[in-house]
Amino acid sequence: MKVITASLLLAALSLAACDSKTATTGETATSTATAAAITPPATDPAAAKTSGTLATANDEAAATPAPAPGSIPAAKASDAAGILARPQVPILCYHQIRDWTARDSKGAKDYIVPIAQFKSQIKMLADSGYHTISPDQLYAYMTTGAKLPSKPILLTFDDTDLDQFTIARPTLDQYGYKGMYFVMTVSLGRPHYMTKAMVKQLSDEGNIIGSHTWDHHNVKKYQGQDWVTQIDKPTKTLEDITGKKINYFAYPFGLWNTQAFPELKKRGFVAAFSLAEKRDQQDPMFTIRRIIASGYWSPKTLRNNIVQSF
Ligand SMILES: [Zn+2]
Repeated sequence: MKVITASLLLAALSLAACDSKTATTGETATSTATAAAITPPATDPAAAKTSGTLATANDEAAATPAPAPGSIPAAKASDAAGILARPQVPILCYHQIRDWTARDSKGAKDYIVPIAQFKSQIKMLADSGYHTISPDQLYAYMTTGAKLPSKPILLTFDDTDLDQFTIARPTLDQYGYKGMYFVMTVSLGRPHYMTKAMVKQLSDEGNIIGSHTWDHHNVKKYQGQDWVTQIDKPTKTLEDITGKKINYFAYPFGLWNTQAFPELKKRGFVAAFSLAEKRDQQDPMFTIRRIIASGYWSPKTLRNNIVQSF
C-alpha cells in the first residue's frame, strides 16, 4: 500500500510539474479566461478553426456507431500530414472529482475537481451544445475525416478513482454523455478506487475502457520486462474484465518518447493519449492531445480553454 501511495503522490506531483506550462493554475487560468474574453470570436483563429470543418454532420448521422479502428483499411487512412491538418477535437482529462480538503496542495487542486464544479462544467458543455464522442469516432475522424456530431468533445477519466463511478458516471448520464476511462489496474478494488465490476459496468453501458499501465510508471523508462508488467498484463486484465479488445492507451503523466510507439503498436494499440504538449509530427495518433480540466476552472474558464487549446 505504501508503494501505491508513493506512486500516486508522485503521479500528482509529476503531473503538476509536466503540465505547468499550460494554463492549469488558478492565476494562469484566470488570465487565460480574460485573454479569451477580450478576443473577438470572429478573429480568434482557434475559435474559427473549431467552428469550421469540425461541425459538419447532423447529429442523427453522427449517432451511428463508428467503425472499429481495425476495420479501417490502412490504404484509406491519411498520412501524418493529413492527420495533423485536420482540426483537433477537444479532449478533456479528469482525475479526482471530490471536494477539496485542507490537506490538498495548491498544485493538486488542478487534478481534484470539486463535485459542484464538475457538475457545472459538464452542464456548461451540454448547455453549449457539445456532444461527447467515442474514441472510435475520434479515430475514424482523425484517420479518414469521418463525420462527427456538431461540437464534438471526448471526456476522459484517468487513474481509476472511485468518484469517477459515483459522481462522473451519473452526471454524464444526465446529459446522455459517454466517457473514456483510462484504468490503472493496480488500484482496482482498493479503497477509493473502482472495482472490476464497476469497470465492467462502465464498459457495458457504452463507455470505453483504456489502458493506463499497472502502477503508473513513466513509459520513457521502460526496459524489457517493464512492457509486460506495465502494458501486456494490465491490458489483458482489462480485456478479461470488459470482454472487449482494448485499443487505446494513455501515458502516465502524459509523458512519452518515440521509442514507445512501436512497442504500443505491436501490442495492438491504435492510438495513445498524452497531455497538452505538442503532437509528434510523424506519429500524431500516438500523441493525441488532452487538457486537464482544472478544479480551479469555472465553466466559463473551461469553455475558453477548450476553444484556445484545440
Ligand atoms: Zn494517470
